[in-house]
Amino acid sequence: MNNIIECRNLTLAYDGVTVVRDLTFEVPRGEIMLISGENGSGKSTLVKTLLGLHKESSGEIKFDGAGRGRVGYLPQKSAIGADFPATVSEVVFSGFVGRLRYGMFLPRGAKDDVKKAMELTGTADIAEKCFNELSGGQQQRVLLARALCAAGDLIILDEPTNALDPVSAADMYKIIKSLKNDYGMTVLMVSHDLETSVTIADRVLHLCCDDAFCCPASEYAERLADAHADCGGIGNCESHHHGEAHHDDK
Ligand code: ADP
Repeated sequence: MNNIIECRNLTLAYDGVTVVRDLTFEVPRGEIMLISGENGSGKSTLVKTLLGLHKESSGEIKFDGAGRGRVGYLPQKSAIGADFPATVSEVVFSGFVGRLRYGMFLPRGAKDDVKKAMELTGTADIAEKCFNELSGGQQQRVLLARALCAAGDLIILDEPTNALDPVSAADMYKIIKSLKNDYGMTVLMVSHDLETSVTIADRVLHLCCDDAFCCPASEYAERLADAHADCGGIGNCESHHHGEAHHDDK
């Protein structure tokens, strides 16, 4: 199939309380898709669902090819903390943990994959440095290299430029573009930095109240204005403003 992921009528909930309702979208292979939406709109829950970490859902999720087992994942920086008492290359190699043969041996081609991941992220020349001593931007690039070692054709990035200075953020966007353009990867990226992330995205999935939509990045601004026409503008959606979630009718 030409889509690496297809979701149909996906509804996500916590303890019977719906947080994302009836979402249908496709992620075309080889594209960058931005997932946007206010805080609390369900972006993390959707990512966790795609990673198989959140189970309370109905509807259909279809993965093409190697599927869920080979999805690379770069969590939000704050979720990891900067405390990794290891060298850069040890951190990158740890990306193979889920892919060890017989639970012990590196998969074939692992060293080439590491080399490629480190070249791509510009971390080859700091391979022997201690991770804890790196700048925030360098650490984020090392963690991306690690995620690439776990990845097949698909990588999910959660706020990849969060907490980075503008120069490091620009570096990160350049790398993300290269993942697509030079390595043919599909990228799903949650971001609040809409101004820049929309410019590198092909498509945007916007989660909002009951008005979630998916559109080409070039149509995003217009669609966003339409989606919020009823609720007074971005950030003023009733259901988010009051922190309410939707209860299932059952
Ligand atoms: P986002 O990533 O867009 O900020 P989340 O997916 O984190 O949104 O949250 C969506 C909704 O689900 C919010 O209303 C949030 O309070 C709720 N939620 C998130 N995690 C849990 C949880 N573990 N248990 C119950 N409710 C949760």
